Amino acid sequence: MRELRGIGVGRSVAFGPVLRMPDLLSEPADTPRATDAETERSSVTAALASVAKELSERGAQAGGEAQAVLEAQAMMAQDPGLIDDVNARIDSGSTGERAVFEAFAAFQDMLTGMGGYMAERAADLGDVSQRIIAHLRGVPAPGVPTSDKPFVLVAHDLAPADTAMLDLAKVVALITRDGGPTSHTAILARAKAITAVVGVSAADELTDGTEVLVDAASGTVIVSPDSSQVAAAETRTAELQAIKAAPITDGALADGEKVPLLANLGSPKDAAAAVELGAEGVGLFRTEFLFLDAKTAPTVEQQLADYAAVLDAFPGKKVVVRCLDAGADKPLSFLNDAEEENPALGLRGLRALRANEQILRDQLTALARAQEATEAELWVMAPMVADVEETEYFVTLAKELGIRVAGVMAEIPSLALMADQVAGASDFVSIGTNDLTQYTMAADRMLGTVASYQDPWHPAVLRLVRMLGDAGRASGTPVGVCGEAAADPLLAVVLVGLGATSLSMTPAALADVRAELARHTRPQAEALAAAALAAPTAEAARLAAQSST
Ligand code: PEP
Ligand code: MG
Repeated sequence: MRELRGIGVGRSVAFGPVLRMPDLLSEPADTPRATDAETERSSVTAALASVAKELSERGAQAGGEAQAVLEAQAMMAQDPGLIDDVNARIDSGSTGERAVFEAFAAFQDMLTGMGGYMAERAADLGDVSQRIIAHLRGVPAPGVPTSDKPFVLVAHDLAPADTAMLDLAKVVALITRDGGPTSHTAILARAKAITAVVGVSAADELTDGTEVLVDAASGTVIVSPDSSQVAAAETRTAELQAIKAAPITDGALADGEKVPLLANLGSPKDAAAAVELGAEGVGLFRTEFLFLDAKTAPTVEQQLADYAAVLDAFPGKKVVVRCLDAGADKPLSFLNDAEEENPALGLRGLRALRANEQILRDQLTALARAQEATEAELWVMAPMVADVEETEYFVTLAKELGIRVAGVMAEIPSLALMADQVAGASDFVSIGTNDLTQYTMAADRMLGTVASYQDPWHPAVLRLVRMLGDAGRASGTPVGVCGEAAADPLLAVVLVGLGATSLSMTPAALADVRAELARHTRPQAEALAAAALAAPTAEAARLAAQSST
């Protein structure tokens, strides 16, 4: 039995055999062809046909949205124009692999140039090309593997599209070598309630078929666990299921003090599921997710329908919408400069919006119209705000354009250090612990090698949260938390002890957080917070809070 360490996402545990995600294929060499054109053409034709067949079979199995994507990919593999181009390249001396690579790349460039929906399909074309080349080489195709039996997926990292397409009936857990707890792989894993441990530096040692126990609560992967460890995991799974099945109530501490539990959303499509899981409103609607593929800034009309759809799902409830947070892990081509060397420290968030003020004005105008057309209580906030001067700029502009409640996100340590000034100038503050941790610890949240620093339990982060909580209390300004930290049940209690007045998280985490809050009174939450604040490291803070419960 061996134990590998990483960073757990959530609290669940799962057990199963490993299936690795094959690595991306190397680019086929541009060397002269050894066989005759006829032989090369027929092996490419066979590869194209079997890839098309395999994609449509997978589509039929998956059903729903995934089927449409896979069917479209199957058609790409049989596109007559592309096949002609591949054959012409073989006739002029290319190997089959190289011809497929070049023909698909040329078509991909053309689609990207067309923008909009066509550009979105370009990445799918790249995936088809990799599958065909894998077939020609006789190696497994890259991308999420398929299996008849449940398995634990092991990958270097997952593209958002891979995570979105995971078949949850088969993938019982996810282990990645790269990525930290706030990388988008981890955020999506949490949203889909997949047991995951990310940033496992030794993940490459895991081979297909090895049985592993993936424990997100402790961030460990036990290789070949014994039967008592598997039995303990099953007991914990049953306990967690009982929590999920408990009746939905409003968030509150054991002494009855209300702590509204809100949802983090990235699309109006997710609103209904959030309501079902008991979200008392929305604490973070990430608007940039709507426009990740857009080449030009969306118009007021394009935005209005999406915003109205989210607000309509929460009549009479609070919905906090964040203005476009473009940059670093979420670049928008119409707002960001691709040439920045350190995009996390670049012209991003409110800085990018201020440099393109018309885009910000259009978004605020669309939001103000949605506010008038619906029954929800709209709050609007700016991302990545540095100080009171930026706070005043945003709040003034938002009010001028008709927004009734305007606030700022606390993600840069400078804002927390100036919290007393900021709280007086803003209707509310929402703490984004993902970026606040990244900047406090100077550790890129996307980088697996420094993933251990990306831990919001670090007392340095908690001290900044306390400064924000104290400033909020002194001025009567609400201070919510909407980073991943709010989804960690025990840390959620600590955050409330530090002065957070509401918590927003992926809806899948609501039940666990609701149950943990109900176990602690206000004095107990404050005692947990004090114990965590006094600790020297993130690990020690977590242990101090655990042993004070
Ligand atoms: C955060 O930084 O904590 C946050 C909520 O924003 P995002 O994860 O979208 O950067
Ligand atoms: Mg952020």
